[in-house]
Amino acid sequence: MEIEDHLFKKGESVSHLSCPKNTVKFAPGQPDTIIIHYTAGKSGESSAKYLCRKKVKASAHIVLDRSGHIYQLVPFDTVTWHAGKSSYEGRSGFNKFSIGIEIDNAGVLEKVGNKYKSWFGKTYPEEEVMQAVHRNESASRFWHTYTEVQIDKTIEMIEALMDRYPTITNILGHEEISKGRKQDPGPAFPLDKVRNGFLESREEELPMSDDYEGIVDVPRLNIREMPSGSADLAAAPLEGGTKLKVLQQHNGWLKVETKIEGWVAGQYVDIK
Ligand SMILES: [Zn+2]
Repeated sequence: MEIEDHLFKKGESVSHLSCPKNTVKFAPGQPDTIIIHYTAGKSGESSAKYLCRKKVKASAHIVLDRSGHIYQLVPFDTVTWHAGKSSYEGRSGFNKFSIGIEIDNAGVLEKVGNKYKSWFGKTYPEEEVMQAVHRNESASRFWHTYTEVQIDKTIEMIEALMDRYPTITNILGHEEISKGRKQDPGPAFPLDKVRNGFLESREEELPMSDDYEGIVDVPRLNIREMPSGSADLAAAPLEGGTKLKVLQQHNGWLKVETKIEGWVAGQYVDIK
């Protein structure tokens, strides 16, 4: 999946919607988290259009329908309103830290006779229902299942996002940042499995020890906010011979610490 101008490239499986109510850009270093949701709505298209309505005080970057079609509502450099009241590991208000992915799924279902009914009255066949205990609850309930293509597409989107935005280091469910208030994406979504897959592959890129050091091997070396040649400069260029502590590596770039932190092109650093 390609990201261009902070949008998944338009195509057969990606449409762009206009959602001009969201105008605030993320602060430097953000977003650092992807939040997974379910829509609890009738269809992906209807949820996407609803979230774009001017008067609706909610939005998201992405709505993924059950066939795997992606609706992008807002570019990834812009804050959306998907998290609401939220906190996790000492931080609150996750809209300003995160990309919101909404997946078309009815959520909790109630068994009525031999049918399973959503809060909005639509019924679902048994093949689309699973019984499971939510991570924040103790008794089992009925949940609308996700389609295979939805899970595959979510993984593809996360992969593309983490590649394009190296600031992203975590994937959380709405149920984890708004405990008690929210149940999405719920036990039908393999959140832990998806998250662990990405976090493990990310860790393999990290240096093995803390005292990984280097020296600037060219007369002057640009230090940037992000691991990209087009990213803003973080400070004046580093002088040749400057000692660096290497914190992280990504696609040939090194995150280093001197008096400040920033990213430098790895080939100009002599690693000890
Ligand atoms: Zn949610």
